[in-house]
Amino acid sequence: MPLAERNLTVAWAVAAALLFAASLWVPHQSVRVFLDNASWTLALCLSAFWAWRGRMQVPPVERLLHTGLFVGTLLMATGQMVWNLQVALDWNPFPAPADLFFLAVGPVWAATVIRATFARLAKDRTYPASLDFGGAVLALLAFTLVIYLPTGEMRSLAEGAVLVLYPATFLTAAGVGALAIPTVGVRITRSHLLVLLGMLGYGLSWMQWNLMVIHGTVQPGLWFNASFSLSALAFGWGARWLRFEVSADQDYRRQCDQLMNYVPLVSMTLAAITLVLLFIAPDGRVGVQALILGCCLLVLLLAALRQTIVVGLLNRLRTAEAAVLRNEEQLYQVAHFDALTGLPNRRYFEDALERAVADASRYAHAPDRRVALLLIDLDHFKSVNETYGHRVGDALLSEVAQRITQLLAGQGLVSRLANDQFTVMLLRPASRTVLAQRAASLVEGLSRPWELSEVGAQYMGASIGISLFPDDASNSAELVRHAHSALHATKSAGRGSYRFYIEEFTQITRGRLELRRRLHSALQGGEFTLVYQPQLNQQRQTVGAEALLRWSVDGKAVSPDEFIPLAEESGLIVPIGLWVFETACRQVAQWRAEGWQVPVVSVNVSTIQLREPGFTQTLLGVTQRAGVSPAVLVLEITESQLLDESLYAIALDLKNAGFALSIDDFGTGHSSLIKLKRLPVGELKIDKVFVRDIVVDVNDREICATINALARTLGLEVVAEGVETEEQLQLLIKMGCERFQGWLFAPALAPEQLARHWLQRQVPLAVH
Ligand code: C2E
Ligand code: CA
Ligand code: CA
Repeated sequence: MPLAERNLTVAWAVAAALLFAASLWVPHQSVRVFLDNASWTLALCLSAFWAWRGRMQVPPVERLLHTGLFVGTLLMATGQMVWNLQVALDWNPFPAPADLFFLAVGPVWAATVIRATFARLAKDRTYPASLDFGGAVLALLAFTLVIYLPTGEMRSLAEGAVLVLYPATFLTAAGVGALAIPTVGVRITRSHLLVLLGMLGYGLSWMQWNLMVIHGTVQPGLWFNASFSLSALAFGWGARWLRFEVSADQDYRRQCDQLMNYVPLVSMTLAAITLVLLFIAPDGRVGVQALILGCCLLVLLLAALRQTIVVGLLNRLRTAEAAVLRNEEQLYQVAHFDALTGLPNRRYFEDALERAVADASRYAHAPDRRVALLLIDLDHFKSVNETYGHRVGDALLSEVAQRITQLLAGQGLVSRLANDQFTVMLLRPASRTVLAQRAASLVEGLSRPWELSEVGAQYMGASIGISLFPDDASNSAELVRHAHSALHATKSAGRGSYRFYIEEFTQITRGRLELRRRLHSALQGGEFTLVYQPQLNQQRQTVGAEALLRWSVDGKAVSPDEFIPLAEESGLIVPIGLWVFETACRQVAQWRAEGWQVPVVSVNVSTIQLREPGFTQTLLGVTQRAGVSPAVLVLEITESQLLDESLYAIALDLKNAGFALSIDDFGTGHSSLIKLKRLPVGELKIDKVFVRDIVVDVNDREICATINALARTLGLEVVAEGVETEEQLQLLIKMGCERFQGWLFAPALAPEQLARHWLQRQVPLAVH
């Protein structure tokens, strides 16, 4: 408080106190009256001054509340001035004009507090809160009236009204103020208590004063007279420092809410007591009785209403809660289970594995606490999917999920990791032997035919990689990684089997990663070369050549079977493939320029390249720049890749542009005759695995014969790949095959070697 204000305050208060003290001692009646009024005037003005000072110092959000409090004190002081005037004029009616000002104070304060309270309440709380306020105030009022009024006599309606209105207005303000604190959750302080005390004090003082007026016992210079000044000072000093902020303390606010729940009960109890009092002391004043009765009934009504609302709110809350729970459950289901197979998904699996590993590591010394991970991958699932479409693929996956679960007979946690990969987590496997048996039974079980309603029996095996914690890995992530390496090893070794993780797999995987890294710079580094393997007809004349990519890292050749998949995975196949095509075209042009007769050159194309937008145009641009016709080029696309129907349009586009298309590795995919007919291809290449055992294996011989027959019917050319022996060649010739490629004739050769040994001069020299 600033010094000037403090000095003023002290002087002011001391003056009021002295005037009051003097009023008690001065014997003269009229001087007493003067001193009383002077003391009241000073106290009420000081109260207004403090309230004004308080208003000046609050933050803007509280300005309105403090304005209301200040206006009340101002009305009070003004009323006192009017009263002084009345006294000076010796005009003493009851009720008096000053009463108008005094009676306005309570409503102003009550309205101000109510406004401030509701401005700080959430919308859904305003309704029950207003019922609480109304009920409590009415109950308080009825109770006050029942104990206050029977003692007095009322001479007129105006008198009765004033008698009722003083307690009604001030006690309403006090009641509302008291309820506002817990309703909003304001931390109660001394200034709140002082303000409430001031309101209550005014109300009680006036109740007593009015009775004294009626009974004619009003006297100047009484101790009682100080009660007005004290109420004014208490209120003013409280308003000077009052803050009306919601407490940040959650616990406190919860306690406030709990307290508010008792308000209707308290109001009803008070109303009930009031009713009892009303009936045991009837005095025949029908109007007031009716008023009190009305108040009590209203209290009951409001309390009942409030309960109804609260019950409604609770019900709504419960419904909302149930909905949230349901949603959460659904969310959990979606987040943790695979929609197709109903099995736990990757996230669920990873969580479970992590927990199992953490659990096992706590008992690391107990050997039976191991966790085994079996990673299952379906062999050739992709081609089934591509051949019969995703619907059949999905049905198959559901079947697989069911079969795995059946085969495990309730042991272990089965989950679907990705597309056609499943995992089985087994806790405490007895031994590796037992695990091996389990894996073998899975492999065997999954290799049995799959009966699918739409497409009949399908054969599709599975490969499994197994890793063990803590034997093979120190944490769950490593366990998964190692199961993957084991799986990879299984697949490389020919699929349809299982493998345990061994340390070497890690090295292999690392090697693959290193290779992949180096592949990125291989193109710029000029590390690629193309070699050409001749294709011959039955007369052993060169009818074409296949361009094959070679990559050497640090002088060591890396097999295309190793790096092409890496290039495809990383998308590098697009620039690499384009380089191959450009180089092959330039080679054709160069051979021509050198005077060699070049039949056709086959180039391998990956589907990833086919999907590149504007692929046909890109290739046409290359041929144009190299000065060769598209007709010299055969694009080889593997069978399994070409079965995706979305590629038909692109294949057609390429054919229309003049390129010839060839289906590579024919027999390994799942082509149906119908699809083959719709494909715009001119050539089939029998995969070398069929050619390899053609002499010894009846099945393979049968397959090769069928392919040749099929090709003839469809008007396609057949190229047999991987011809290594004369016997194979003779068998193939017998089947009607007309073109051959293989080591029997030549491996893939450098361009100049191919030209020198396998190409003919453009203008053959005349032979005598
Ligand atoms: P592919 O298209 O089936 O190529 C034929 C593979 O058989 C070549 O292996 C070739 O060297 C090999 N081969 C040829 N004659 C014989 C034989 O008598 N016996 C045996 N056992 N094998 C023979 P290579 O060059 O290792 O290529 C492997 C695969 O890499 C190719 O199989 C092809 O799918 C892919 N590839 C090679 N170059 C490219 C390329 O430029 N682009 C794309 N996308 N893939 C390529
Ligand atoms: Ca090929
Ligand atoms: Ca091939």
